Amino acid sequence: MMDLFIPTNISFTQATPQITHLGIGAHQDDLEIMALHGILECYQNPTQHFGGIVCTNGSGSPRTGSYATCDDEKMKSIRQEEQRQAARLGKYLFVAQLDHPSAEVQNASNNSLVDELHELLLQLHPEVIYTHHPLDKHPTHRAVCRAVIEALRRLPSNQHLKRFLGGEVWRGLDWVVDEDKIALDASARPELSEKLLAIFDSQISGGKRYDLAARGRWQANATFASPHTIDKETLVSYAIDLMPLLKNPQLTLSEFALGFVERFRKEIEKQQKI
Ligand SMILES: [Zn+2]
Repeated sequence: MMDLFIPTNISFTQATPQITHLGIGAHQDDLEIMALHGILECYQNPTQHFGGIVCTNGSGSPRTGSYATCDDEKMKSIRQEEQRQAARLGKYLFVAQLDHPSAEVQNASNNSLVDELHELLLQLHPEVIYTHHPLDKHPTHRAVCRAVIEALRRLPSNQHLKRFLGGEVWRGLDWVVDEDKIALDASARPELSEKLLAIFDSQISGGKRYDLAARGRWQANATFASPHTIDKETLVSYAIDLMPLLKNPQLTLSEFALGFVERFRKEIEKQQKI
């Protein structure tokens, strides 16, 4: 069952028209990695507001230490509460946790996530949507990306949508050619982003240092962006533009994803000839 959390206690119908930036992630903590740019842009901003959707229930995460004895139900409620805490700290206008099992999300013939996302997207009109990119290593992330695209394709119109971004979590995008790469500056409020990532203790103490890994990648992206200029930002996350998938409903995810590989291959080929 969906867990809808609105930190300010306004109603969902009051919240929805205010949402300008929407993050749709697979798991609890994905928003804080993949959509951090949107969270920071909206933080204490009177005209822009962030809303988050988390698709899975997080029951399947690996666990160790003080979490080793938690069964899946307990883990689910711990992760749900961590995500609520992040929404509170990051001042999201809402966070909806949809509670789908990962196996169901990965099953392409099961449409329940697409149906639910479609229902929610009918009520929301964000200018920016952040989700996973289709080249991500994690199968649930790729499945969420596919579901978001299907749900958006079903809408009568996406006129309000200015940017539709696929961001890095389980596979970085530093390798895609520069023309395909969108650099999202995540340098603002480093203490806030550090605290947001630290909230997900069940993952961190549970044996996965996503906090250090994400920050390390953002630092590397900022420094290794250009060999000839000094660092303009301290933390940068990369995304790719998913808009072509909406502009051309016939374009398959596979064709779209392989296009990035092909352009990368061509670039390497060109460099070897010099
Ligand atoms: Zn994830």
